[in-house]
Amino acid sequence: MTQLDYMREVPVDSAGGTEDRSVYLTFDDGPNPFCTPLILDVLAEYQVPATFFVIGAYAKEQPELIRRIVAEGHEVANHTLTHPDLSTCGPREVEREIIEANKAIISACPQAAVRHIRAPYGAWSEDVLSTSASAGLRAIHWSSDPRDWSRPGVDAIVERVLSTARPGAIVLLHDGCPPDEAEFLGLRDQTLLALSLIIPMLHGRGFAIRALPQHH
Ligand SMILES: [Zn+2]
Repeated sequence: MTQLDYMREVPVDSAGGTEDRSVYLTFDDGPNPFCTPLILDVLAEYQVPATFFVIGAYAKEQPELIRRIVAEGHEVANHTLTHPDLSTCGPREVEREIIEANKAIISACPQAAVRHIRAPYGAWSEDVLSTSASAGLRAIHWSSDPRDWSRPGVDAIVERVLSTARPGAIVLLHDGCPPDEAEFLGLRDQTLLALSLIIPMLHGRGFAIRALPQHH
């Protein structure tokens, strides 16, 4: 089996002799009418960008949130139409999930430039990667996963992010929940509180929170 080509962290550009201490915040499984606006408020307070890997079906239900994410300078990216495990889907289903999610985002916000994709559950396959590439989407995984969706406690989320933060790190957080996830697990209050601590603590350690690079 060939190595699957997706990005776990952004390569550090050390040109010029100065250390690049960029880290990248990403949010999966939104937009969510309760959580996403609060996450956006925190990002605005600290003036840091993020990438939102949205579920296409939710983008159709919450088009105004897609527009707000873009208007506030963040990136909207593809997290499929209905959040299936794509490694169990046939080629036609994989293509439909990816293409239809792109369409949902663009129809909600024509200005959204969809450049990145993250497979639900990180379940990449050759088929998913080739279909994504054909759609002009770069595959983005993560290197820092505090498992915020499991509600381990605010302190645990903060500690896990800080202990895995290094230049180029891609941090995985959640501003929503998949359609089949239990209601109580959908609460994102811990993520929200943790975020308001993580941003200043990363800044305090000399990290710069940046948008994912658009050219690879
Ligand atoms: Zn997801």
